[in-house]
Amino acid sequence: MAKYGYDDTPFLPNTKWRVHDSNRPQPPVIWPGWFSTQEAPGEPPSDAIILFDGKDLSKWVSVKDGGPARWKVENGYMEVVPGTGDIQTVEEFGDCQLHIEWAAPAEVRGEGQGRGNSGVFLMGRYEIQVLDCYENPTYADGTTAAVYGQYPPLVNACRKPGEWQVYDIIWLAPRFDENGNLIRPAYVTVFHNGVVVHYHTPLFGPTTHRATLPYQPHPPVGPLRLQDHGDPVRYRNIWYRPLRGYDGEPEWRDWTPIVMALRG
Ligand code: MG
Repeated sequence: MAKYGYDDTPFLPNTKWRVHDSNRPQPPVIWPGWFSTQEAPGEPPSDAIILFDGKDLSKWVSVKDGGPARWKVENGYMEVVPGTGDIQTVEEFGDCQLHIEWAAPAEVRGEGQGRGNSGVFLMGRYEIQVLDCYENPTYADGTTAAVYGQYPPLVNACRKPGEWQVYDIIWLAPRFDENGNLIRPAYVTVFHNGVVVHYHTPLFGPTTHRATLPYQPHPPVGPLRLQDHGDPVRYRNIWYRPLRGYDGEPEWRDWTPIVMALRG
């Protein structure tokens, strides 16, 4: 196999790799897919795990009773059937890149939190708000793409009701030690329609209405949950990619020893 790089360069601080290390593995090759348009969903990257491809809800269950998800599926999207309750994935996952597209009802009804409300709950506990905030004010930490009850988005990047919108989310799950003590909060980065609205934002704990909740220890994986808030919100093209080092590096970097090494 051809070798590229160098074997006589200095080591990067606190790592096993030299600058331009000839032994450093190549990143795996994937096909990056295609972006969506208003007319059609795009194609996920070739290494994505698909949670909803527009055809059926086989990867989802009802939160209420664990039975089949009873939301409507048609024309390549799923739609909340008010009263059937939240749905969640059978699959559980933690640190990830999550892609999810949604559309608020084209027929505008209600105001504030009552207009096109749904939600994307990471690990079933931490909500990125889905709401129609196109010319629809509400409390800032409950607007579209807010970390509900904690952080407003940096900007309101809403499209009009009925138009497809995209959340691209980088999720880092919280970590607990063996005694259940929090050792790292959850961090979230969110792009709404391609615009960054949160970056590496530490969550205070699970999200809820009119209260604060402390972190409760939970496993490093959990289901993705979508909210039935009584509005027929639509979803399509839902996939995720687990986040991990490609060559056995830690899934998240502990910078402390790196900073110590840099200080000398
Ligand atoms: Mg909501």
